[in-house]
Amino acid sequence: MNEEGFRIIIQKAFLFTWGGLVDTIHLSSRLRYVANYIPSGATFADIGSDHAYLPCYVCLRDEKAKAIAGELNEGPYQSALQQVKKQQLTDRIDVRKGDGLSVIQPNEVDTVVIAGMGGTLIKNILHDGRHRIHNVKRIIAQPNVDARSVRKWLYSHHYRLVDEKIIEEDGYYYEILVAEQQAGESKSLTEKEYYLGPFLIENKDPAFVAKWKEVIPKKERVIQNMRKAKQPDTEKIQAFVQELTWIKEEIGNDS
Ligand code: SAM
Repeated sequence: MNEEGFRIIIQKAFLFTWGGLVDTIHLSSRLRYVANYIPSGATFADIGSDHAYLPCYVCLRDEKAKAIAGELNEGPYQSALQQVKKQQLTDRIDVRKGDGLSVIQPNEVDTVVIAGMGGTLIKNILHDGRHRIHNVKRIIAQPNVDARSVRKWLYSHHYRLVDEKIIEEDGYYYEILVAEQQAGESKSLTEKEYYLGPFLIENKDPAFVAKWKEVIPKKERVIQNMRKAKQPDTEKIQAFVQELTWIKEEIGNDS
């Protein structure tokens, strides 16, 4: 993923502060929301870190924060290494090449961020690395699609949501899920909550209403086309009709 693609503008602002020259990184608003959910002084892993923008941004503004930037692919891994070096953060950000959570050891971090990927990939990364995150208190996930898979994984692995946010950026809607580990079984969510998000339903931010308002006609068209098939997949149609009902229950029929 190139810099343009993510519209992350790095501006070297040479600000004279009491401490002297400070380099700042300006992130996309999506990643800024994610960053705001990282507890201050956290030791966190950013999995799929690309240019390591997020860990650099957090460590530049929080001198107690430390990070592991994990990357699977060589190109983004090299970009992350260069960025961390450029920001003079090599003592606080360790860039590691590897698949998902394999780059962290158990007990190494208290917070894990996985952003900018599909929900199924995020769920698989969490599941494959579940034995490495026993002591991780907070998981911040930002699935680009299929947030439901991530919510379901969290609730079946002793995590519960403590907040959610939906934002619109450049015509795309992004959901941010913030979950914390809790002892014992988490009370599960309803299927509707797994689909739409319990906090998002509760808050009904304008971006939530706008996102689902856009989905309604698309889903209606898909259902119509599926019904016209020679051998309609009734189970799938039923599931889509149910989702449509949930959406309309929350944002109204004629929104
Ligand atoms: N997290 C950044 C963000 O939100 O802007 C970058 C998102 S980018 C779309 C996804 C990144 O995850 C890519 O750099 C890709 O190489 C990396 N990636 C994909 N699968 C991965 C995996 N299994 N483990 C680690 N990194 C992965």
